[in-house]
Amino acid sequence: MSDVGDCLFCKIIAGEIPSKKVYEDDSTYAFADIQPKAKVHVLIVPKRHYATVAELAQNDPAELSHIVGVAKSIADDAFHGAYRLVFNTGEDAGQSVFHVHAHVLTGEVLAE
Ligand code: 5GP
Repeated sequence: MSDVGDCLFCKIIAGEIPSKKVYEDDSTYAFADIQPKAKVHVLIVPKRHYATVAELAQNDPAELSHIVGVAKSIADDAFHGAYRLVFNTGEDAGQSVFHVHAHVLTGEVLAE
């Protein structure tokens, strides 16, 4: 588990590692996943570092709610508001980057 100092997504938010920006405001950043699992696959992150969605929910529920709203607007633009929203939480559930991120999968019909 990474802390803020060596966090990949903190570096992306800071612009130290390039990313394809989809959306940005004062508290939130969204960018294209480097290995897309759908036609449109966007990661939405809070600029403040929290490791998991549970940690974010406990410490800043308004930001979690905001991220859900950003996901909707991305999907409204990409695919008439149809989307899958996933927060992998914990290594055994597939979380590989320990800066909370919402996966927004959209842009095509998702069969399963
Ligand atoms: P997790 O497995 O933690 O739920 O999701 C991490 C996601 O980050 C993966 O879908 C992976 O493709 C994406 N990812 C990992 N490294 C980078 C990177 O350097 N740039 C971008 N844009 N996405 C990344």
